Amino acid sequence: MSEGLSNGMRDVVIIGSGPAGLTAAVYTARANLRPLLIEGAQAGGQLMITTDVENFPGFPDGVQGPELILNMKQQAERFATDFLQGDVTSVNLSERPFQIVIDDEETIEAKAIIICSGARAKLIGLPSESKLMGNGVSACATCDGFFFRGKEVFVVGGGDTAAEEAIFLTRFASKVTLIHRRNQLRASKILQDKVLEHDKIDVIWDTVVTDILADESGRVGSIILKNVLTHEASTRKADGLFVAIGHSPNTALFADQLDLDAQGYIVTQSDSTKTSIPGVFAAGDVQDPSYRQAITAAGTGCMAAIDAERFLEEEGQN
Ligand code: NAP
Repeated sequence: MSEGLSNGMRDVVIIGSGPAGLTAAVYTARANLRPLLIEGAQAGGQLMITTDVENFPGFPDGVQGPELILNMKQQAERFATDFLQGDVTSVNLSERPFQIVIDDEETIEAKAIIICSGARAKLIGLPSESKLMGNGVSACATCDGFFFRGKEVFVVGGGDTAAEEAIFLTRFASKVTLIHRRNQLRASKILQDKVLEHDKIDVIWDTVVTDILADESGRVGSIILKNVLTHEASTRKADGLFVAIGHSPNTALFADQLDLDAQGYIVTQSDSTKTSIPGVFAAGDVQDPSYRQAITAAGTGCMAAIDAERFLEEEGQN
């Protein structure tokens, strides 16, 4: 932990360093609140494992995810944000000042907190999936796709992530097969068209993966599929399986303290980023089950910063 950062009371502590957290930092820093941003174990969030970002306004030719994050971080630094490399291991939101424990070691006190802890990839839940994770099973094509040059890979899912991962994998794999549990993709029309028209991508409809088998080297060798309509099982030779079936919010730390919805997302008021506890705000994917875009995360990060600033002003603590 950086010397001195955790000393004393902070006006605003931001948890998370994706587009929501970094935008909240730019805004609270420009409001002279000298925010402390705790970066988390996966600094930069999901954009760090994203290649081409083509839908973030202001980049007519697109931008690489890590570059976008670096730009945002530099902007937040320019306005005097303190960055702390560490993971939040517990929080106490039951009294003010709030307490935030970093890496089970140090406690930081804060008058207001902005939670931007994001979301992580969901898994199918098969024992063989966890066993073979890193040995042919992956939840991140941009991280691991390179290792599948000339190989035959499968992607599970039917949303934007699955479509993007399938398209990305065509750069390396000899063949990519998308396995979807229904007969229609959920992905946006433009990505659907790219997938369905791609000569390296096949789609298997109405099908789920029920097991993943290792070959003699201990890596993925084949997968067992089940057609959900006919219940017919089949085996396919596979070198890799990429799971791209959505995300879960990173809210375990807050589960007993803040109101969460049935899927575990932090509940915020309909017209603000206020959570069920005054002085605690949430922005980005951790509170957003429906849009989940880099630009909406940045937008709610801005809202949370303004909400926190107003809260501190109203409380006379600023
Ligand atoms: P998603 O939209 O929730 O899609 C998840 C997909 O996985 C769905 O097709 C779902 O099937 C399938 N699925 C879920 N659980 C499954 C299971 N246990 N077994 C098999 N299949 C399962 O998630 P996402 O694709 O990660 O996208 C999340 C959000 O991020 C979306 O809002 C998306 O628009 C956004 N996003 C945008 C971009 C972009 O704009 N370029 C890129 C990535 C993500 P069903 O269809 O049957 O439910």
